[in-house]
This record gives sequence, C-alpha cells and structure tokens, in this order.
Amino acid sequence: MYPPLDRFFGRRPFHSENPDVEIERLKKAVPIERLVMGFGVELKRHGAELIGTCPFHEYKTPSLVVSPKTNLWDCLGKCNVGGSTIDWVMKTKWGSACRQEAAEDAAFDGRGTNT
Ligand SMILES: [Zn+2]
Repeated sequence: MYPPLDRFFGRRPFHSENPDVEIERLKKAVPIERLVMGFGVELKRHGAELIGTCPFHEYKTPSLVVSPKTNLWDCLGKCNVGGSTIDWVMKTKWGSACRQEAAEDAAFDGRGTNT
C-alpha cells in the first residue's frame, strides 16, 4: 500500500545534483501519516482524512488534519501551520532548518516501519 521506499532510497545515499527535484519526490514518497504517527500523534480516520491532536500547541481539541491523498498536514487550530512531509520534519525536529537535512530525516523516518 505504500511506495517501495527501500527501493527508492536504497539505491544510493541521499544525494542529488538537483536537491529541489529530490525534495519534491520525497514529499510524495514518504507517507505523511507515518511521520505524524511516528511522532506519537494518534490519528483517527475522518472521511478521506485523518484527524489528531496537534503536538505544537496545548489545546486538546483535535485540530491536526492529515491528508494521505495530498500528503499534506495542517493545524486548523491555534498554530495555523501546515505543509509537506519536509515541513513536518523541520517543525518537529528543529522548528526550522536546512531543507536537505529535513529531507534526509523524512526518508529515514519513512523507512523505519514497514506496515
Ligand atoms: Zn496546532
């Protein structure tokens, strides 16, 4: 059900002469729900989307919307932030950081479990 991540990333270490292209591919290759659940957020299915409690603000009403279809996440509550898998890794790990490092991390986390 998931893209063949091992094959995608296994060929070579993360390296590209055109990192922007590689990052665009990574945004689709790593399932966003896997990264979010890997961070400890419990997601519940709500139609086509998954809903959970946003880990970036205190309020306990589920306001984090994760869309497997578009592979994007969004906090509709206090934070009002969202984005791609890369943005998630940057937000959870550093707040903001080098995009390529975040991409490497997304690749690694996405490969961690194989469900
Ligand atoms: Zn939030």
